[in-house]
Amino acid sequence: MHSGCRMALSRGLRCCQRVFSWVPVVIISSVVLWSYYAYVWELCLVTVENALEKAVYLLVFHIVFLLFIWTYWKAIFTPPKEPTKKFLLPYAEKERYDSEERPEVQRQILAEFAKKLPVYTRTGSGAIRFCDRCQVVKPDRCHHCSVCGMCVLKMDHHCPWVNNCIGFSNYKFFLLFLAYAMLYCAYIAATVFQYFLLYWTAELPNNRAKFHVLFLLFVSLMFFISLMFLFGYHCWLVGLNRTTLEAFSAPVFPSGPDKNGFHLGIRRNLEQVFGKRKKLWIIPVFTSIGDGLSFPMRMVSESHNPLLGGNQWDDEGTDDESPVSRESHVILEMDT
Ligand SMILES: [Zn+2]
Ligand SMILES: [Zn+2]
Repeated sequence: MHSGCRMALSRGLRCCQRVFSWVPVVIISSVVLWSYYAYVWELCLVTVENALEKAVYLLVFHIVFLLFIWTYWKAIFTPPKEPTKKFLLPYAEKERYDSEERPEVQRQILAEFAKKLPVYTRTGSGAIRFCDRCQVVKPDRCHHCSVCGMCVLKMDHHCPWVNNCIGFSNYKFFLLFLAYAMLYCAYIAATVFQYFLLYWTAELPNNRAKFHVLFLLFVSLMFFISLMFLFGYHCWLVGLNRTTLEAFSAPVFPSGPDKNGFHLGIRRNLEQVFGKRKKLWIIPVFTSIGDGLSFPMRMVSESHNPLLGGNQWDDEGTDDESPVSRESHVILEMDT
């Protein structure tokens, strides 16, 4: 009875948590909807008198608005990717791992299993990175998100503003969302400014539109400045091929921790996220290079590289991956 109550309570709490996690998205969406109404109706249709100016403002606004909404939608609804089945600890190993009390033997069990996997980074103590909750050997750059309750490939951070985990599958969409949100704010601020001045100098009649136009300028400038810092930070990260988590805690390689372990040079770092076809860089379609499970690395010497020591790949249980992806994504750089 007691355990039944506890279960019902925890299920209720989880449900509440899930509902509340949408609050930031609802707030942003409400502000965006209001900005649409204020710009289209109160500014363009009520305040602007010149027909050509009205048409140009509305046309450009709708193009920017659609791109912004499209990227926001993709950032919210593109689910994070988790490790494939081949990273899952098999039943026999799991039994041995769970029944073993000596940590060094547990480490050995994981090390044996991980020999067949393309994992290269380790924990601070040099052990294989293993997630107890998901029972998976974590691929390089993968981390467990406690909010999502899963291991996320190339996890960057959990973003409350999109109520989603930002990682390998949606990082490009997140960056484009920041960029188009900035463009949206900048466009509104630039076109509203002259009407703000006209209201300020009382050259336009004091009506309801005044309130909306004044707020459009303040709100768009406020969001533009906040987004500028966040976008600038992520541009710096992309340029160095680092995730937010890696910027705080360097990935550990056999040679030791190295924040620049995945840095391949700016052009190739950009290609890792945006793909090789430059035309698609600004379009919110998935073009990132790789499968999210393994990544090209800088300065990896053959002698230290477990992936080049003969055929150590496990060809079983690779149903989720194509041989092409495996070949093209574990290009280990000698140098750049
Ligand atoms: Zn996990
Ligand atoms: Zn998450």
